[in-house]
Amino acid sequence: MIKRKKVVKILKYIKQGQTIGIIGGGQLGQMLALDAKENGMKVLVLDPNPTCSAGQVADAQIVAAYDDFAALQQLAKQADVVTYEFENVDLAALEKLEKTIWLPQGTELLKITKNRLTEKTFLKEQGLDVVDFCEVNDEQELKQAVKKIGYPCILKTCEGGYDGKSQVNINDSADLNEAGKLLRQRKCILEGWLDFSLECSVMVARNLAGEITVFPVSENIHRNHILHLSIVPARIAENLQQVAKQAAVKIAKSLDLCGVLGVEMFVGKDGRVYINELAPRPHNSGHYSIEACDFSQFAIHNRAICGWPLPQITLLKPVVMVNVLGQHVCAIKKLIQTKPSWHFHDYGKDQALLDRKMGHVTILTDDLDKTLVEIEETKVWSD
Ligand code: AMP
Repeated sequence: MIKRKKVVKILKYIKQGQTIGIIGGGQLGQMLALDAKENGMKVLVLDPNPTCSAGQVADAQIVAAYDDFAALQQLAKQADVVTYEFENVDLAALEKLEKTIWLPQGTELLKITKNRLTEKTFLKEQGLDVVDFCEVNDEQELKQAVKKIGYPCILKTCEGGYDGKSQVNINDSADLNEAGKLLRQRKCILEGWLDFSLECSVMVARNLAGEITVFPVSENIHRNHILHLSIVPARIAENLQQVAKQAAVKIAKSLDLCGVLGVEMFVGKDGRVYINELAPRPHNSGHYSIEACDFSQFAIHNRAICGWPLPQITLLKPVVMVNVLGQHVCAIKKLIQTKPSWHFHDYGKDQALLDRKMGHVTILTDDLDKTLVEIEETKVWSD
């Protein structure tokens, strides 16, 4: 059973002209900051990189490590409300600061979502479908867990992994050696391999007054474990879309969510929706909402943490979002000249490294199949 601290949060309204402090200066922070600026807020970013994406569009930046307590105190002092753009923030430091800082998302949400084991245990306790899983601390436990769950399965570190990093697929006993290496680095969770027909996600948001709003379901296609493409609405039956959205709303309520949360899911070949992972912040698969919805995930997150009322979301047009990684940047720069109706986002990162998320492209469309062919034909993503 996940033990939770019951926190009674007061309602606090942040006004235009006041300051939002963002811990983390990546692209999510940048898009939060851009929306905040549009709404007349001041933005202060904390990030160790002086040329980070969010710092380029914020009013000011504190250049310091995320676990620099003095820097966090400075942020707390200067900002009227504080938020974070990734889950690997220093939880202990935030817990220490919580009394002096207005952090409407709280730290409980982080505590649960930071660790795959607590996250899956929590989801299971809510009666939601998750794959079979087991805590694994050493090789002896790994053998027992594999016996229980069966092949194929997947070993993941409980903390710190992203984009498929820190995971080992175990198809048979020959893979146990590789899995053992991961296990010696960190505490792990073993998951049963799900034969899914589709991966999808739902962005859901809630404010402290209890208003909830939910975005359309996004179908997500990954390449090398990195999100490649999102298609909205997901190409699944209407009843499955409802199941996915209802699961997201249930999670938002049971977490006393404040802000936006990304819920990653698998649609199993058995027709059930399994929750894979939660992201307590805006999520890459929600970027389509900037152009395709009447309010973006960033606008909704800012509204929620500022205590503003939340609208119900309307999808204005079907959409495809494609990620631009380091290896795509050169070709994308040329493509801009040939695609007048595509929206090209660039996060302003200085080094276009392999597999690094550098930007994304959003294509509103009346014909999803035609757009998918058009994307293929550019050959930009054929690596
Ligand atoms: P994650 O880091 O948990 O999001 O996993 C990265 C990717 O690995 C997912 O997007 C899936 O494509 C795949 N994956 C992760 N866990 C499982 C699982 N239990 N069964 C099948 N595929 C999985």
